[in-house]
Amino acid sequence: MTPDTQDIEPDRQSFHMTPDEFRRHGKELVDWVADYLERVEDFPVLSRSAPGSVRAALPARPPEQPESFAAMLADVDDVVLPGVTHWQSPSFFAYFPANSSGPSVLGDLLSAGLGVQGMLWATSPAATEVETHVLDWLAELLDLPPAFRSDGTGGGVIQDSASSSSLVALVAARERATGGESNRAGVRPGLTAYASSQAHSSVEKAARIAGVGSAGLRTVDVDPDTLAMDPAALERAMAADAEAGRRPFFVVATVGTTGTNAMDPLRAVGEVARRYGAWLHVDAAMSGSAAVCPELRWVHDGLELADSYVVDAHKWLFTNFDCSAFYVADREALVSALSIVPEYLRNTASESGDVIDYRDWMVPLGRRFRALKLWFVLRWYGAEGLRHHVREHVALAQDLATWVDAQPSFERLVATPLNLVTLAHVDGDGATQRLLDEVNASGQAYLTHTRVHGRLAVRVSVGGTWTQARHVEALKDLLREAAG
Ligand code: PLP
Repeated sequence: MTPDTQDIEPDRQSFHMTPDEFRRHGKELVDWVADYLERVEDFPVLSRSAPGSVRAALPARPPEQPESFAAMLADVDDVVLPGVTHWQSPSFFAYFPANSSGPSVLGDLLSAGLGVQGMLWATSPAATEVETHVLDWLAELLDLPPAFRSDGTGGGVIQDSASSSSLVALVAARERATGGESNRAGVRPGLTAYASSQAHSSVEKAARIAGVGSAGLRTVDVDPDTLAMDPAALERAMAADAEAGRRPFFVVATVGTTGTNAMDPLRAVGEVARRYGAWLHVDAAMSGSAAVCPELRWVHDGLELADSYVVDAHKWLFTNFDCSAFYVADREALVSALSIVPEYLRNTASESGDVIDYRDWMVPLGRRFRALKLWFVLRWYGAEGLRHHVREHVALAQDLATWVDAQPSFERLVATPLNLVTLAHVDGDGATQRLLDEVNASGQAYLTHTRVHGRLAVRVSVGGTWTQARHVEALKDLLREAAG
């Protein structure tokens, strides 16, 4: 890599990129991204980069002299791209999707360009008010219970991730259960939380961070067929803790578990949680987006019993990472747990009580104007556009599930409620591993795995922004060939 230095004017007073330079290079970069999206199918989906190879191609020392933008872009092609796994490839079927889209990228660019730090309403009223409004729109689009809207006791906020959302939910629940005592005096032993064996690892991480500890988080059994939480097992676990003098305070129900897309029965789980006065948090990180389609709103049946809810627009709602929409039915415990007001943040707007200061709803103080990208996405697609693409993904996954059932070499290990197909080779784990390895080595698709009752399973997650029927058809061919 040869640093191509800028043509520095001898009398140049500043090293900053001027607005004119920004305009020129910005257009080049937008063109680069558009070209990338046009050719994204040509790259091997899973990066073939060996550990350390990206770093080895970078200079050991930072540049002393300014470099040209052309040199930077050249290194994006030569150094960065080989080390990229192409999450925006239409043949990316791994994990859960991390959607991107044109309006979202442009909204993110605008957010960066404005460079607003919206920790308080007063530090940029539009950053707060657009966020509140857009999250109310999203609540309407997903038909969330009215308590989650900002015009009552609750409201929504954009967090960086579902992990952070679950953490602040747990902290709010702890606040409510202890009347603020855990904030003042530290967490006493005996607070117990509950999630199914299939819940996301972020729930245990939250328990650790919030001082409940992994031991304070009870793993609740699931129904062996559906892998959904068994409400009777939850009841038994909570009753045992209550009888032993512990304080059951937090239950997480998952709408669409990461491994297999299992759906915890929200209503039954919520009724048990209520009996013990515990906070119900619903983690609908990916699958909550299905509720843009009225016919898929069954995923939220019983959600009115929840105290908090999270859906990641950055997973399956065409909005770039990071954009986790977190809602509470009553914001009091959340704000009381997280609000600390040093003198330097005092201002008349906050003191009037008429405004929202989102710094009190999350761990960091500083926050970007993330609502712009979600606002752009909701306006560009409209409800009609969102429904169209979510429906298309679900239909493609259902078609794939039917195809898998008809293949003698494959079996589906669990049901396919939405857009995740979980399959295994009938010859056992060795054959399933070979199937996975072969498909991934082809570079033409990327799949990841899970275990179902101890058996290795391949997950096919259909939710990429650009995924269409022809990509799923190509995947069928790959699977058929790899199955031998
Ligand atoms: N919850 C569930 C059900 C998930 O599937 C995931 C990630 O896939 C998460 C939480 C964590 O998401 P994030 O990366 O936004 O923290």
